[in-house]
Amino acid sequence: MNYLPIFIELTQKPCLVVGGGDIAYRKITLLLKANAQVVCVSRAFCDGITKLAEDKKITVIQKDFEASDIDAQVLVISATDDTALNAQVSRMAKAANIPVNVVDSPDLCSFIVPSIVDRSPIVIAISSAGKAPVLARLIRAKLESTLPNAYGKLAQLAGDFRAQVKAKFSHIEDRRYFWEKAFSGVVAEKVFVGKIAEAKADLQAQLDGSSNSEMGEVYLVGGGPGDADLLTFKALRLMQQADIVLYDRLVSPEVMELVRRDAELIYVGKERDNHSVPQDGINQLLVDLAKQGRRVCRLKGGDPFIFGRGGEEIETLAENGIPFQVVPGITAASGCSTYSGIPLTHRDYSQSCRFVTGHLKDGSMNLPWQELAVEQQTIVFYMALKGAQHLSEQLIAHGMRGNMPVALVEKGTTPEHKVHTTLLAELPNLVANETIHAPTLIIVGEVVKLREKLNWFDA
Ligand code: SAH
Repeated sequence: MNYLPIFIELTQKPCLVVGGGDIAYRKITLLLKANAQVVCVSRAFCDGITKLAEDKKITVIQKDFEASDIDAQVLVISATDDTALNAQVSRMAKAANIPVNVVDSPDLCSFIVPSIVDRSPIVIAISSAGKAPVLARLIRAKLESTLPNAYGKLAQLAGDFRAQVKAKFSHIEDRRYFWEKAFSGVVAEKVFVGKIAEAKADLQAQLDGSSNSEMGEVYLVGGGPGDADLLTFKALRLMQQADIVLYDRLVSPEVMELVRRDAELIYVGKERDNHSVPQDGINQLLVDLAKQGRRVCRLKGGDPFIFGRGGEEIETLAENGIPFQVVPGITAASGCSTYSGIPLTHRDYSQSCRFVTGHLKDGSMNLPWQELAVEQQTIVFYMALKGAQHLSEQLIAHGMRGNMPVALVEKGTTPEHKVHTTLLAELPNLVANETIHAPTLIIVGEVVKLREKLNWFDA
């Protein structure tokens, strides 16, 4: 380790920045975040620095740097484009034993400024010892995307309870157990969704031993259409946190790869006309597992509230007083159309878009065909492979032209993504003559033509 990471308290401490350009400005803003008292010495100042001085946030002194400027400073940053001057500042600060940083010149530094992930009071500093700052920034971006924004609030809350918890549990193991539970359970989840007061009450109840802490929680999570990169940050977080995951056929293997390694997995099927676990059974299972205190992730393809029966599942939870969260996902219509180069709306071709189910009941579809068979509209049929012939006939019977463009998307957004384009009147032939793999989505509308120009994914 070339440098020892430490965090310095700078509140109201005098810090000198030499240089008045944009880079100096960025360093000043960082120092101000730590409440430092900043003096900036330079011949000229950029607009940002001038504004800070006008707002009385910093002091600026317009002059050449001189040795006496470093007197009484606790920290010095040199950010000029004059290498000789930078070297002089570094030499003098080092001689006076004042920590000094020279931007982009590791050799002249006695400390370096890391890349920072700020979830104050939690702060993560990343350094490459000046060897690969871009890599450090990439790592920072990764951390930024995986750490919930509200971690800071969670740490703040923990800080408020620290003394109480210490007083209650004299053994460090007991304290650790208490905090581990708080940081990964219902309390943390409440903080993440902004219910701070409720989280506080829950934590207090856990501390007083009056909480119903045996109760688990259910996360109804939209896993998107297939490509795991389309998951939301929140979906990923809850998938990684759950003790048990109930999934079905529509959740892609790539998405399943991302659930917590040691989570128990339960397949609840949903093969067409061959439900491995009937819907009532799934609803009840969720209730039973949560009552056992487990954190259950009900992972569904696409969006749970779009033809996903998510509403039914949480209705049972609500009736049983089980806490739950719902995470929206990218629905198949959105994922499949985008990855096929077909915008669902377009100012010239389609001013509205309808998502409809093509599921056959008693051999027909109960749909308002009159409203569907119109121009300047896109219709997306879910679950419509078996009903393809029927929908083609019905739309034409209700006045839609037989040469309306149609796209049939197989396994959209996955490595096996495949698109067949045809015309409405030809759709039944296509389905009869080609081997088509589920899941499949059918898009009807003039926008399908745009694929010729806009296809980017399987081109
Ligand atoms: N809740 C899901 C839809 C469930 S209904 C969502 O929001 O996407 C199941 C239907 O979704 C399938 O019959 C198919 O029409 C469609 N579907 C889901 N994923 C798909 C995919 N990757 N490619 C094509 N169609 C898909």
